[in-house]
Amino acid sequence: MVYEKHWKENKKLNKTEKVKLEKDGLRILDNIPFYAENGFDSIPKEQWDLFKWAGLYLQRPKEDGYFMMRVNVPSGILTKSQVDTLAGIAKDYGRGVFDITTRQAVQFHWLEIEQIPDIFKRLESAGLSSVGACGDITRTIVGNPIAGIDPDELFDTTSLVKEVYDFFQRNEDFSNLPRKYKMSISANKKNASNAEINCISFTPAIKVIDGVETKGFHLKVGGGLSSRPFLAKTLDIFIEPERTLEVAIAVTTIFRDYGYREKRHLSRLKFLVADWGAEKFKEKLEEYTGPLLTKGVEPTEEWNAGYFYGVQDQKQEGLKFLGFNVPVGRLDADEVFELARISSQYGSGEIRTCNSQNLIIPNIPEKNVEALLAEPIFKRISINPNSFIGYAVACTGIEYCNLALVETKERMRLIAEELDKRIQLDVPVRIHMVGCPNSCGQRQIADIGLQGIKLRNENKEMVEAYEIYVGGTLNDDGRFNQKLKGKVPATKLTDVLDELLHYFKKDKVKGESFFDF
Ligand code: SF4
Repeated sequence: MVYEKHWKENKKLNKTEKVKLEKDGLRILDNIPFYAENGFDSIPKEQWDLFKWAGLYLQRPKEDGYFMMRVNVPSGILTKSQVDTLAGIAKDYGRGVFDITTRQAVQFHWLEIEQIPDIFKRLESAGLSSVGACGDITRTIVGNPIAGIDPDELFDTTSLVKEVYDFFQRNEDFSNLPRKYKMSISANKKNASNAEINCISFTPAIKVIDGVETKGFHLKVGGGLSSRPFLAKTLDIFIEPERTLEVAIAVTTIFRDYGYREKRHLSRLKFLVADWGAEKFKEKLEEYTGPLLTKGVEPTEEWNAGYFYGVQDQKQEGLKFLGFNVPVGRLDADEVFELARISSQYGSGEIRTCNSQNLIIPNIPEKNVEALLAEPIFKRISINPNSFIGYAVACTGIEYCNLALVETKERMRLIAEELDKRIQLDVPVRIHMVGCPNSCGQRQIADIGLQGIKLRNENKEMVEAYEIYVGGTLNDDGRFNQKLKGKVPATKLTDVLDELLHYFKKDKVKGESFFDF
C-alpha cells in the first residue's frame, strides 16, 4: 500500500503517527479486558489516547480515571431495544447522563474501566458499537434522520448508510487514517446532514442517463470546522446509489494514502482537498473508480439545519413523525426509558436522533398523536419549544472535556431560557456555544456562535469569557459566521446577547431571518 511506504520513509511523522505505527488503534480492544480486570492504574499513560478507537475518552481530569463513551448511531436510527440498552447503560454506569451529539451519536460519562466489558457486551447484543466513534478512523455516518419516512427524500438511504458503516466498522485497512474522518450520506432535500461541514458527503442529485431520469448522489469533499474551517467542495461527478460504497472506499483510500501525517493540525482531509482542488481530487478518485459520470442537478431546498419540530406527515399514509426539542441535547436515563416506552406504546418503538441534538419519534398513527402528546414528559421535551431553547446547541464543555476552556451545556441552557423570557421573535435564531476552537458544537454555522476563551478581568483574575460570531449558514453554498469585536465575560453574556437580539428585532422586517439581516 502507498501509505506504508510513505510512512516508513517519512522521518517527520508526528508523535501520534509514531504511536499508531507501533500499534493500530483498534488493537486497544484486545487490551481492555486486562485493564478492566486490573484497574485504571494498570493502563500505561501512553496507551490512553488509543482508547479513542474504542469510542472512549478520558474525561476531565484524566487522572481520575473516568471515561466518556461515544456510541455510533448511523443516520440517527435506533430501535426500541437499542434505546432501552443505551438508557440502561446511562442509568447503571453513567450517573444517568445521556447526551445527543451534533453528529447524531450518543455520549455517556462517568464510566470506569471495570465496567467497559459489560457495556461492550450490552452494546453488541443490541447491534450497537462505540468502536470507531473517536480516533483517526471513519466515524459514525451522519444521515437523514427521517430516512425511509421522509415524504420529500429523493430515495431511502437507510440500507446504503448501513452498508458503508458496516464496511468500515472495525476494518483494519482503514483504522489508521491521518486524522478523524467524518462522512454523511443523505437524500434529504433540506440538507439535514449539514453536508458542507463533513470530510465527505453524499448529497441528493438527479441525472438523465440514456434518456432515463436517475436518482443518485453528488459528492462533496474536504469540509470541516475546528480553528481553520472549510466548506466542502463539490466534485463534478454523479454517483449511482449502487456505487456509493465503492466511491466511499476510494475517497477514504486517497485520504489514508495521501493525507498529511507530519503536522497533526494539518492532517484532516480538508487540507489535502484545499491543496489539490476539486479537479485534481476528481482525477485521483477516477484512478480508483474508473471514469465517473459528470454532475446532474441538485433538487435541494432551503436548509433546515437538522430541525424537525412538530407533528409531520410521513411518506406512509396515516403515519406521523414527531420532532421534539431536547434542551442542549441532554436527557436523563429515566427520560430515555420513558421515551422508549411511549414510542413503543403509541408507535413502532423507534427513536431517531438529529444533529441539532434533538430527537424524533416516528411511525405514530394519526389517531395516537393526541394521547402521546398528553404524556407528562412532553412538558420538557416539547414539539413546540420556545425559540431560543429550541435552537440552542452546546458541546460537552468544561464539565467533562479536557480541551474545554469554559462551561457550555448548562450555561447555554440558562442563557437560552432567560432570552426566551426577555424577547419574542418571529423567526428562530440558532445559537451554538463551544468550549474551545475545536468546535464540536459547530459554532461556525450558527446564526450566533459563542466560542469560549479565558480573559483576565479588572482584578487580574482569569475568568471564563466568549467571543461572539454572527451570520453563519449553509444556505446559498454556505458561509461561516464572522467575529464581532471584543470578548464578553460569561457574567455579561446574557445581557450582551439580549442587546444584540433587540437590535435585530427593532430593525428587521417581518419574517426576515438572522442570516438575511
Ligand atoms: Fe471539548 Fe472543545 Fe469539543 Fe467543546 S468544542 S467538546 S470544549 S473539544
